[in-house]
Amino acid sequence: SNPLLQVENVSKTFRVHGKKLHAVENVSFTLEAGKTLGIVGESGSGKSTLGRMVLRLLESDKGRIIFDGVDLSRVKKKELRALRQNMQIIFQDPRASLNPRMSVGDAIEDAMAIHKIGTKASRRARVVELLERVGLPDEIQYAYPHELSGGQLQRVGIARALSLNPKLIICDEPVSALDVSIQVQVIQLLRDLQEEFNLTYIFISHNLAVVEYLSDEIAVLYLGEVVEQAPADELFQAPTHPYTQVLLNSILKIPDSPEQKQEMQSIQGEVPSPLNPPKGCTFHPRCPFAMDVCKTAKPDKKAVSEGHYATCHLVGRSEAAHAN
Ligand code: SF4
Ligand code: MG
Repeated sequence: SNPLLQVENVSKTFRVHGKKLHAVENVSFTLEAGKTLGIVGESGSGKSTLGRMVLRLLESDKGRIIFDGVDLSRVKKKELRALRQNMQIIFQDPRASLNPRMSVGDAIEDAMAIHKIGTKASRRARVVELLERVGLPDEIQYAYPHELSGGQLQRVGIARALSLNPKLIICDEPVSALDVSIQVQVIQLLRDLQEEFNLTYIFISHNLAVVEYLSDEIAVLYLGEVVEQAPADELFQAPTHPYTQVLLNSILKIPDSPEQKQEMQSIQGEVPSPLNPPKGCTFHPRCPFAMDVCKTAKPDKKAVSEGHYATCHLVGRSEAAHAN
């Protein structure tokens, strides 16, 4: 079957104070319709930049993005508008993308009106139907963003995205600002909607535990590069890149004392500045398995098994056993 989305060697460099910042470097993946790719990384890893490039809210410097058989870099502005209907994004802070002076029902209707979907009456009926589908009462259509909780607002954001019948939804840290119990509800809602509408997701988070439930495949980003990519089960059962192992350990050990928390952070260390990335393997200053070669030579992407890749000098060496 043809993938819904193909991302091929996409890169993005920004100029910051006269220096080059490689925000995203040579990222490739394919995504089948109805599936979820989880993208995990710390802040500054390039995950939001990548999401924006897929939507072409940001132009990539090189590489190709093929959506539904169409090479997005060749699409004219006008066609892009029609394509955008098929590709929606949900942000961490839904308030930021809602007009504070517009009722949430009007905001959802407005999204449909912009894309010339239905009549005024049919759009209004659809607003109510969508609100109900995301677990909100009818009356909420008359409420303004400041009157709603974070969880309710995120449901409104989801309803608005759904109103356009998208194929792909990019979820950029959609639950990070919510209480844990609400996070679970919103993730379950996203999963139910995916099944019902055969939605395809890119789910971006700094938290591996959050992407686990939804993802079919997971890509781990570190300083703009994919350091490991695998089917979700495989990534959790056989994490191969030392960075993925650190991320996994940090979700398994919930720190319950300040001392423990302190210890965890000192093991992990700080993320280096993307403006001045370390030579060789960019993870080497934080890596418990770093060897001399890691300080000078950049590791290539290597296959661990079918569909499972890691960018680490340990892959294929006997030492890899110790890292697992
Ligand atoms: Fe660690 Fe070396 Fe692998 Fe980088 S290449 S993750 S420093 S072992
Ligand atoms: Mg971000």
